[in-house]
Amino acid sequence: MKFASKLIQYDAAPGDRFRPTATPIYQTATFEQEHADSFGDFDYSRSGNPTRKVLEEHIAHLEGGTRGFAFASGMAAITAVARTLRAGDEILADSDLYGGTCRLFTRVLGRSGICAHYADARDLAAFAAKITPRTRLIYVESPTNPLLRVLNLRALAELAHAHNALLVVDNSLMSPYLQRPLELGADVVLHSATKFLCGHADVTGGVVIVNDAKLAEDISFLQNAEGNALAPFDCFLLHRGIKTLKLRVDAQQRNALAIAKFLAADSRVERVYYPGLDSHEDRALQLSQASGTGSVLSFTARSVEAAKAVAERARMFQICVSFGSIHSTISLPGCMSHASVPPEIAATRELPPELVRISVGIEDADDLVGDLDQALGHDASDPQLLHVAQGITKHVI
Ligand code: PLP
Repeated sequence: MKFASKLIQYDAAPGDRFRPTATPIYQTATFEQEHADSFGDFDYSRSGNPTRKVLEEHIAHLEGGTRGFAFASGMAAITAVARTLRAGDEILADSDLYGGTCRLFTRVLGRSGICAHYADARDLAAFAAKITPRTRLIYVESPTNPLLRVLNLRALAELAHAHNALLVVDNSLMSPYLQRPLELGADVVLHSATKFLCGHADVTGGVVIVNDAKLAEDISFLQNAEGNALAPFDCFLLHRGIKTLKLRVDAQQRNALAIAKFLAADSRVERVYYPGLDSHEDRALQLSQASGTGSVLSFTARSVEAAKAVAERARMFQICVSFGSIHSTISLPGCMSHASVPPEIAATRELPPELVRISVGIEDADDLVGDLDQALGHDASDPQLLHVAQGITKHVI
């Protein structure tokens, strides 16, 4: 089946005698046992729940994996993968990473003796030089967020395996519709399901998908032992969102390209970061490992003040952290989604403070372009900018 069919054609309620076409919400903590000394398919929702099970099997199928797991957030999903490590193990991560992931690696895992190193994974030789005998996970996002750099996932999988490590890919920005890292050699794929999988910004969730049976057993054990699985109602909302993934992403991507072209041709914008543009240096690599370029893009304004002014003047783009919703949003990563990067790591990274990230929704492209046009103001000497030139407050998520 083609991906569009896979999204819809699955058994939504295996074994249910009423044969519902949508997966029911099994809002129960416990399941009655027939015998005192043996369990049925389910016994306790922390360990397993039918609404969750259908979701986990469906997402595994969509990503081309054998087992999937749904967690209460993207961070819970990342934590579960990190929990497979032991004290003394190391993670080598790409340097353009979601701020919360960096905070987890450095400030939380560090407490258990797990150490994270960072390097630009576009430079494979320099990245490989950071691998040590203790490196267990190579951890990346591609395209990266918020700089939209494309990493060579096939080459990174080979590199990881040559050093007895696993390649973990955060695929939140692409979704399985556009990119399936397991098919490129990755060992673990995870998502903040809060983003494109949900698509409506009404669920916080995370998923992990793997192929290896032993790794799956460990993650299943951790999900039950630590009690961070996604609740039945949130599973239901994710089921509902996933069905329209292709329709949403197609529309969002079309809009994103129109906006990127408009921004690239506009003198009020310094630089546009979007692999859908012919001018993007990694466009060919992106299209060799994904079927599209997504709908998140960034651009630099002429100053931090100008960047803040664009965000605040935009009427259709809500100022919001996160991405992937049907509603267009705008953010300043330096003081929003990436403000949680520990300062010592932030100092080593390229994250222009005047960077604006937008996540493009399904509204009309002309309306969105028109709104950005007015939001960009007249030019850098626009007197309105004086009103927003006061200090920018960091909002740590
Ligand atoms: N991965 C990426 C790329 C993200 O942008 C985020 C959150 O913004 C996360 C993971 C964490 O996901 P969640 O907010 O669902 O915990």
